[in-house]
Amino acid sequence: MIRINENYAKLQASYLFSEIARRVKAYQEAHPDKRVIRLGIGDVTEPLPAACVEAMHKAVDEMTTRSSFRGYGPEQGYDFLREAIAANDFRARGADIAADEIFVSDGAKCDTANIQELFADKLTIAVPDPVYPVYVDTNVMAGRTGKNAKGRYKGLVYLDGTAENGFVPPVPSVPVDVIYLCFPNNPTGATATRAQLQAWVDYARANKAIILFDAAYEAFIRDPALPHSIYEMDGAREAAIEFRSFSKTAGFTGTRCAYTVVPKTLMGYTKKGEAMALHAMWNRRHTTKFNGVSYPVQRAAEAVYSAEGKAQTRALTDAYLQNAALIRETLAGLGYSVTGGDNSPYIWVNVGKDSWKFFDRLLKRAQVVTTPGAGFGKCGQGYIRISAFNSRENVEEAMKRIRKVLK
Ligand code: PLP
Repeated sequence: MIRINENYAKLQASYLFSEIARRVKAYQEAHPDKRVIRLGIGDVTEPLPAACVEAMHKAVDEMTTRSSFRGYGPEQGYDFLREAIAANDFRARGADIAADEIFVSDGAKCDTANIQELFADKLTIAVPDPVYPVYVDTNVMAGRTGKNAKGRYKGLVYLDGTAENGFVPPVPSVPVDVIYLCFPNNPTGATATRAQLQAWVDYARANKAIILFDAAYEAFIRDPALPHSIYEMDGAREAAIEFRSFSKTAGFTGTRCAYTVVPKTLMGYTKKGEAMALHAMWNRRHTTKFNGVSYPVQRAAEAVYSAEGKAQTRALTDAYLQNAALIRETLAGLGYSVTGGDNSPYIWVNVGKDSWKFFDRLLKRAQVVTTPGAGFGKCGQGYIRISAFNSRENVEEAMKRIRKVLK
C-alpha cells in the first residue's frame, strides 16, 4: 500500500498565488474586454541584461565544439562564478566569505526549502508573520508542525511583524532553534538595520540557534547605512546561512540561478552535543541530490559582476525602484500608510480592512492585481502587497486607475 505523507493534509487549502490566479482568471473570463495589470506576484517583467545574454550566447557556442564542450560541472558551481560572488557580494563589503563556502543552485526557493534536511525533526522553528509562504509550508510538509488552527500552525513560534515594530520582529523571549529572516522583506518591503541584525546574530549565538537569512532582494538596497549581508555582522559566520538569488537582481526568474552560503565555521549539534560542520553536511546533500546549474546560465550569472553587468543590473533594479517610488507616493497620497518601496520592490499598504475584499475591489474596479496581505499570515490581515515588477507604462496606468477608484 502506498502510504502518503499525511502532513500534506495539514497544508491550507490553496497556495496564495494559485488562489489569486483563480480569481483573476474568473474575472477575465467574465470581462474579456478589460485589460488587467498585474502588480501581484513578484515576477520580473524586463528582459535580461545585455551582458548576461552575450555571455550566455558565447557559452552556448562553446557547447557546440568538442574542445570547449562541457558536460557535468561541479555540483557546487564553477569556480569562476563562486570566486566572482565571494569577491563582489561579500569581500567587497567586508564580509569574510570564501568561494568554497558558496553553493550555486537553481533557486533560492528550493534552497530555503531543502536546507531543513540538515536539521533534526523535533526543533523549535521561528517564522516571521507575515512571511514568504515557502518557509512555513515546507516545514509543514516535513512534519515539523502540528495542525493549522485559525491561520497558525501549532508548534511554530511566530514572530509578529507589525506597524509598531516597523515589520522587523524583535528576538523572541523564548529559546528557538531555527529562525527564518528575510531582508529586504517579502512581503512588507521592510529592511533591517545593522543593530537589529546584530541583535539576531547575538541571540542565535547565545542560544546555539541558526538564522536562515534570505537576502533575495539585496540588490534593491540603496540606503548606504543598511547591511546587505548577514555576514557584515560580528559572529554571523557562527550563526547563519544566507540565501541569494539572481532572480530579482538580474531578471533570472525564468533563467534560474541562485546561491547559498554555508560558512565552514557554522556548527550544528548531535543529541550528545557533538559539533558537526553544516558546510560538510550541505556539501554532501548538494552533491548527492543536485547536479549543478547549466554552464551557459552560470556564465550569464558571472556576467552580472562584469563592469557592464554591474551597470546594467543597477539600471534594471533602479527602474523597478522608480516604479516602487511611484506606487508609494500614490498610495501615501491617497492617505494610506505604506512601508517598503524605498530599498525593496514591494510596497506594503495598510488598507484597514479585509485584505481579500480590498484585493477584489482593486481587481474588479481598477483591473489591478495586488496580493492580499492575509495570504502571508495572520499579521498580514488588513494589508495588501503591491509589487513594482512591471513596465513603467503599466505601473503609471495602474496608479491612474487606483487613484480614480480610491479617491
Ligand atoms: N526568497 C524570497 C523571499 C522570494 O520572494 C523569492 C521569490 O519570489 C524567492 C526566495 C525565490 O527565489 P528564486 O527565484 O531564486 O527561487
